[in-house]
Amino acid sequence: MVAALRRKHRIHASPGTPDPVASFDAMPQSGVPAWLVRNLKSLGFSQPTPIQMQCFPAIMSGSHVLASAPTGSGKTIAFLGPILACLGKPGKDFARALIVDPSRELAKQTLDEFTKLTVGRKWNGRLVDRMSGEKAGNIRRLDVAVCTPLRLVQMLRENRISLDATKHLVFDEADKLLDLGFAPQIDEMLTFCPKADGGLMQTMMFSATLPPVVVDLAGSILTSPLRISIGDVNA
Ligand code: ADP
Ligand code: MG
Repeated sequence: MVAALRRKHRIHASPGTPDPVASFDAMPQSGVPAWLVRNLKSLGFSQPTPIQMQCFPAIMSGSHVLASAPTGSGKTIAFLGPILACLGKPGKDFARALIVDPSRELAKQTLDEFTKLTVGRKWNGRLVDRMSGEKAGNIRRLDVAVCTPLRLVQMLRENRISLDATKHLVFDEADKLLDLGFAPQIDEMLTFCPKADGGLMQTMMFSATLPPVVVDLAGSILTSPLRISIGDVNA
């Protein structure tokens, strides 16, 4: 049944990846909070997209993840949804989840998806960038921080923000991050993540394509990742 479901939706997953979840109604059984499922349905979505089917259980298992699926296939909610499920409820720390996007425009789109997903709930999410840079050091409570590489590194160097509490880290649109030359910023920001050392941080990479540079980066920053891709195996 699992094999048939994966075949139908062209889901490829490395051995050990938990079974995909076929519908929103099946999500609560695998630990997705009821409010989240309600919000997903209220958005008018009839079913999870293939990358969401596979990423909810994969990310909720705590593993590092390398995921690829075409543009427009719902990757943002494929990581934001399960991350919120893992976080459980809003907290008091700064950036328990941190999303790195290649541009301000893409970061804003990520934040828009966060806003849609958390309607009616007390989650805090925002763009941490130039506009909020001055005040960044004053932001204490922030569940989900979305940022771009240059600003992030700059604020870390200037000690304006701390990633001491960051437990879930996503490099979104990883192929674009590398195309734009952000590999040095990715390396540098990781040195500011204390939880990365003891394996207490879950690192994930999402990408539309998987060129060798993306696979190489995954090899150097992910630990025994689950590899998930949708569509052509070698796309
Ligand atoms: P990607 O990052 O893969 O390019 P996005 O996360 O930006 O794609 O999603 C593209 C669009 O699809 C967004 O408008 C999003 O709200 C919508 N979307 C997400 N999940 C679903 C779903 N399960 N059903 C229908 N539309 C969805
Ligand atoms: Mg995207």
